[in-house]
Amino acid sequence: MPQAAASFYSRSITSKGNAVRPATTAIWACIFFLSASSGDAKPAGHDRADAQALELAKQAIALRSVRGDGNQVPQVAALFKSALVAGGFDAADVAIMPVDDTAFLIARWKGRDPKLKPLVISGHMDVVEAKASDWERDPFTPVVENGLLYGRGSSDMKLDDALAVATLIELKREGYQPRRTLVLALSGDEETAMKTTQMLARELSNAEMVLNVDGSGGQLDPQGEPQYFSWSGAEKTYADFELTVTSPGGHSSRPYDPNAISQLSAALVRIGQYKFKPELSALTRAYFKSAADYERPEIAAAMRAFAADPTDAKSVAALQANPATIGKIGTTCVVTMINGGHALNALPQRATANINCRIFPGHPRAEIMEELRRVAADSAIQFKDVSTGSVATDASPIRTDLVDAVTKAIHLGYPKVPVFPTMSAGASDSMWFRNEHIPSYGVSPLFMKDSDRFAHGLNERVPVGDVQPSVTYMLSLFTDLSK
Ligand SMILES: [Zn+2]
Repeated sequence: MPQAAASFYSRSITSKGNAVRPATTAIWACIFFLSASSGDAKPAGHDRADAQALELAKQAIALRSVRGDGNQVPQVAALFKSALVAGGFDAADVAIMPVDDTAFLIARWKGRDPKLKPLVISGHMDVVEAKASDWERDPFTPVVENGLLYGRGSSDMKLDDALAVATLIELKREGYQPRRTLVLALSGDEETAMKTTQMLARELSNAEMVLNVDGSGGQLDPQGEPQYFSWSGAEKTYADFELTVTSPGGHSSRPYDPNAISQLSAALVRIGQYKFKPELSALTRAYFKSAADYERPEIAAAMRAFAADPTDAKSVAALQANPATIGKIGTTCVVTMINGGHALNALPQRATANINCRIFPGHPRAEIMEELRRVAADSAIQFKDVSTGSVATDASPIRTDLVDAVTKAIHLGYPKVPVFPTMSAGASDSMWFRNEHIPSYGVSPLFMKDSDRFAHGLNERVPVGDVQPSVTYMLSLFTDLSK
C-alpha cells in the first residue's frame, strides 16, 4: 500500500456484522466434534508447523527486504522456496520472478479437479524502511522478548507469510490432496510501487478467490483477552489531486486581485468545510452493528443509529467528529500539502495544493475530482489527478463460503469470539486482485493489542502466542476452501 495509506485501518480496529455471522448448527457441531475428539478444549497440536512458522519468520525478518539498493526480497523468496521444496513441493511448481530490485513468488499445488478455479493465498515479502538508530533494538535482528517477536516486518507481514508457508507444508505432511488448486502468491513491492502485485493479479486473474493474509485480524483487549475478529472485504481508494492557480505575478508593492495564493486558499477553505455524502454498504452496516459493542456509549449509539438509517443527521455528526469513524461513513478529502510564491517581495505566480482523498468503494476517482471542482467553485483553479499506484475497486461480495470458513477457523483457536467484516483504509495487494474482478479478502489471523500495533512504525512486534492458533486457523481455512 502507498506507505502510510493503508495500514492503520487494515490492522487496527475494524468491523463486525450480525448479518454475516454464520453460527450455523453444522459449524458448531463440527467445532464440538473437533474439540471432543482431541480430548480437550484445544484443537490437535501441530508443533512442527508452529515451530517452523516462527523460525521462518525470524529468518525472513533478518533479511532486509526494503526497496532500493541491497533489497533482499529475492532472498526472502528463496528462503520460502527452499522450505516449500523441502516440505514436498516440486521445485518446478515454485517460481521466483525477479522484477527490478525485487521479486515475486508463485507456488502452485495442483488440485484434483482441473475445472475448479484456483484459491490464491496472498501476501507480501517487502517491508517499510526502518532506521536502526530510532529503534530500541536492531529492526533486522529478530528478538523474542516477553512473548513478543520484535523486528521490522514481524506484524506486517513476515509472520503471516511464514505461517502460510508452514501451513502448506503441514498439509503436505498430512497427505492432504486439495480438490481446488492452491496458489501461494507473494508480492515484492506492496509497500511501494505494487508492480509485482499487478503482475501477480494479471497472472492469476482466473482465480476463484484471494485470501490476503495481510489484512484485518483480531483484537485483544489491554489484558490480552480476545475481543473480536474482523476480516476485510473492501478498501477505500487512495487518490491525490493537485490544485494549481497561476498568475502573471508582479511587484509586491503593486498588488492586484486575484492573488494566486489567496485565491487557492479560499478554495481550500471551501473544500475543508465540505463533507461528502454519508454512505453505508452491506459490509459497513455489518461492521457498525457489531463494532458498536466495543465503543464508548455515544459512538456505539451513533454506529447503531447510522447502520439503521444512514441519513440520521445526529449519528452522522457524531461519526464525522470522530477520527476513528469518519473514514468509515464515506469519502474523505483533506489538504495535505501547499506550495506557493517564489520571492518575499513578489506577487505569487503560482500556488499549488495536494488534496488527498480516501474514496468510498463504488466511486471512480474522476467523479470525486469533479465533485471537488464544484466545491472549489473557481474556474481558475486547475485540477489534476496525480494519484499513482492506486485503482478504484468495488467491495468484494460477502460470500457465505468465505464467512463460514473464516468464522469456523477463528473459533477453533478463539471459541465464540465475534467475527465480522470491515472495510480497510486501502491499498493492500487485494486492490489489484479486485481490479481483476477476483473477490479478495483480508484475513490475517494475528490477534494484537492496540498497544502493540506498530506496523510501519518503531519497535514493530507480534505476540508469539498467536502462532499456534494461527496455524490451526490456516489449516482449517485453506482446506475448507479447497477441499
Ligand atoms: Zn502489509
